[in-house]
Amino acid sequence: MASIAQRPRGTQDLLPADQPYWAALEAAAKDVAERFGYQRIETPIFEATDLFVRGVGEATDIVSKEMFTFSDRGGRSLTLRPEGTAPIVRAYFDAGMQLQPQPVRLYYMGPYFRSERPQAGRFHEFHQFGIETIGDASPLLDVEAIVLGWNWFAGLEIAGATLHLNSIGDEVCRPAYRERLRDYYRPHLARLSEESRARFERNPLRLFDSKDPQDEALKRDAPRIVDHLCAPCAEAFRIVKEALAAEEIPFELNPNLVRGLDYYTRTVFEYQHESLGGAQNSLGGGGRYDGLAAALGYRSTPGVGFAMGMDRTAIVLKQSKPFTPAAPDVYAVALEAKDELYVFHLAATLRARRITVVFDPGPARLDAKLRKAARRGARLALLVGPEEREKNQVVIRDMQEKTQTSVAERDLLSTISQMLGGA
Ligand code: AMP
Repeated sequence: MASIAQRPRGTQDLLPADQPYWAALEAAAKDVAERFGYQRIETPIFEATDLFVRGVGEATDIVSKEMFTFSDRGGRSLTLRPEGTAPIVRAYFDAGMQLQPQPVRLYYMGPYFRSERPQAGRFHEFHQFGIETIGDASPLLDVEAIVLGWNWFAGLEIAGATLHLNSIGDEVCRPAYRERLRDYYRPHLARLSEESRARFERNPLRLFDSKDPQDEALKRDAPRIVDHLCAPCAEAFRIVKEALAAEEIPFELNPNLVRGLDYYTRTVFEYQHESLGGAQNSLGGGGRYDGLAAALGYRSTPGVGFAMGMDRTAIVLKQSKPFTPAAPDVYAVALEAKDELYVFHLAATLRARRITVVFDPGPARLDAKLRKAARRGARLALLVGPEEREKNQVVIRDMQEKTQTSVAERDLLSTISQMLGGA
């Protein structure tokens, strides 16, 4: 039967079976971020459209074709946030964090929205864990971000992630490089794909993002920005590489890594995972964005950060090991309707002692109730039949051992605690 309401395209339900993976992703994120002294921040799900147009850049794919934009009743243009960095830089200045000791270290987790064509590992609503370090230009903070991200994967015991690294220079050396790249491509324009021709005009660095086989050979022989960095950018990149080597974090220099957001300067990086396959192999990425604050109209302020795709990381985590949903300690059942309220109350007294109890209402045969308790993964079943009720007793059944004992009601808590503690 076709129902009225369908889940919108590109969205997902994160079901109870998914939750243990998400709980692990979130716990590992909080753990690693706080170990480095990062503090949590959450910004609104929607922002003024202009924040992303000015921050991320009008010519980027994100802004030119992937934003969910709408008008509020006053006719103001709002956009479901497609990324977290521009909002956090806005919040940093809104809250006066530039007056605090610098750098300010922040982390966040939540939903983001892009209307890319949905496919495996690519959604309209997805989730990111990210960090931002704002207010200090030290390249060691780039390294700190990279190491923090690396430690997140390690904390989740995810193997097989690879780190790709590049420097894309700054406003001093990039304009000259951009022209050099245009000079290189100009004689070959006719051979380029249509999309690449558009990129040649708008932002030639993005020519490296082309996945078109037609563009491959030209890409391979193109001048590399790392060979054309100004002295300060070259020195910063040297420090990043040296510190990563000292931390024994393996990386691959990838001259094709440019990333699709305009605000990046100097260090850019990406974590990839082969098991995701194809175009969606990026687990997360980031870089330095020393020009972003000024582009948003604030005082020029350096920053660096990353955003990890939690949905894709959940896919990898599922492939690497099974997680089971949390199971209750006790499954509480009355065998007769007249004893239900009594069992309902016993359940409440156990919960007050921090024991997790699922109450199963309604009469049914004992074997049917026990099957439900087993399906739910309960450690113990608490059973009250007419005989027990008369003697002020309850039956506690060990679901694993399939053994049971009758205990006086006053010994219920101590017996259950003992059975749970002893397992
Ligand atoms: P970006 O902000 O584009 O650098 O994205 C950072 C990470 O977020 C990517 O590496 C992906 O893991 C994840 N991501 C970005 N866009 C999507 C999407 N549409 N669906 C799922 N994950 C995404």
